[in-house]
Amino acid sequence: MTSVGIQCSLLELPLPVHDGTDKPESANDEMDPTWQPPLLQAQDSDDENLDSKCDRLESSSPEKEKKFLVFEGCLLELFTSCPACKLPTSVKKTCVGTFLCIHQYCQYCSFCRRWDSQPYIKNIPAGNILLSASILYSGSLPRKSLLMLQYLGMSSVSVRTFFQHQRTLLHPVIERVWKEEQRMILDEIRFTDEPLVLGGDGRADTPGHNAKFGSYTLMELGSSKVVHVQLVQSNEVKNSNAMEKEGLARSVHFLREEEMNIHTMVTDRHLQIQKWIREEMPDTVHHHDVWHVAEGLRKKMEALAKEKDCSIVGRWVCSICNHLYWAAASTPDGNGDVIRDKWLSVVNHMQNIHHGHGKHFPNCLHPDLGQDDQKRKGLKSGSKACEKLSQLLEKPRLLHDVQKLSPGYQTSKIEAYHSVVNHFAPKMIGLLLSWHESRYYVTK
Ligand SMILES: [Zn+2]
Ligand SMILES: [Zn+2]
Repeated sequence: MTSVGIQCSLLELPLPVHDGTDKPESANDEMDPTWQPPLLQAQDSDDENLDSKCDRLESSSPEKEKKFLVFEGCLLELFTSCPACKLPTSVKKTCVGTFLCIHQYCQYCSFCRRWDSQPYIKNIPAGNILLSASILYSGSLPRKSLLMLQYLGMSSVSVRTFFQHQRTLLHPVIERVWKEEQRMILDEIRFTDEPLVLGGDGRADTPGHNAKFGSYTLMELGSSKVVHVQLVQSNEVKNSNAMEKEGLARSVHFLREEEMNIHTMVTDRHLQIQKWIREEMPDTVHHHDVWHVAEGLRKKMEALAKEKDCSIVGRWVCSICNHLYWAAASTPDGNGDVIRDKWLSVVNHMQNIHHGHGKHFPNCLHPDLGQDDQKRKGLKSGSKACEKLSQLLEKPRLLHDVQKLSPGYQTSKIEAYHSVVNHFAPKMIGLLLSWHESRYYVTK
């Protein structure tokens, strides 16, 4: 599986930059206990370096500016004496979430000043909204994150404030950015004027069949860009199994409204999806993702290999799965009859018969196999293992699916995208709903 990261660059937060003051982030916290920060090693002789670092702190935007963990005692040391007359002063502190405002008064010379620990974004202290944004955009769980700050003794926003920020500020921003991004992607597709090849796959919010929410993703497989994500609630359809089909139906409806013409769809072999595409998208070519078909078959062959007198099947599992990929990939025009005959040739091949296969693929293409190799691997015709494996490979339902294997584009990138979603929305379906807001969902 490959990682596709986040396709929308507008939502990317600056990643933690290693500037020599922090230990580089590592998957293994135990790694290199003797590591020394380079700044500490060079500190004595390099004050200028420190100054230039300070200059760089002058950052234009609050989200990019560096923040520090400052202890109250250390901070208040700065306000003990009057800058004008140097005599002791009194201070009044006001705290709002992560924000601290200090009023300093001098009773001797009437000097007074106000110091804010943070800039504002509109009228909200920047640190408060940035904290909420960081929790949301990093896919962290809000209650746990805020509890961590509480344990640290850090003045922080409440869970209630986080959710208020999320609802009133952060979600609308995500929605707007996504819609702008989607508009650009759709415009790009229209501009290229090439036949539109989409991959589609569903995702449930919980494993198994009791999902409360499901999403259906359509990805343009040429560019690997997500063009639409449709959310469905299980109570909107008969049962959670029907969510995938409903998600596809609404996604296709959305694209039709956008006057997008879908030339080819690549999906898994979900029966309801097959039926729906056949009936509702008669002008669209429907292909199956090879991985889904191959994995289904692999499990069945592995189960067969565990049966009595069938262990030899185990030696064939990998080769047969590879053959399935080859049958599809070596047929770029996607001709179903050719793919099927190529596929079926494996039944002869595993019995050491390499000629006289089907009409569209009469002979194996490989050179003559050595006698030893044949003896080692070949299945004896008529043996229980051979009969049962042949039955499995020639099953009508499998042949039907094999004929529709996608010769080129597969849906693995969607699986990768779903794994990114899993990171951002492990439990917080509220996030998912808004992140991928679809206008059909909103209008319901
Ligand atoms: Zn004074
Ligand atoms: Zn052969």
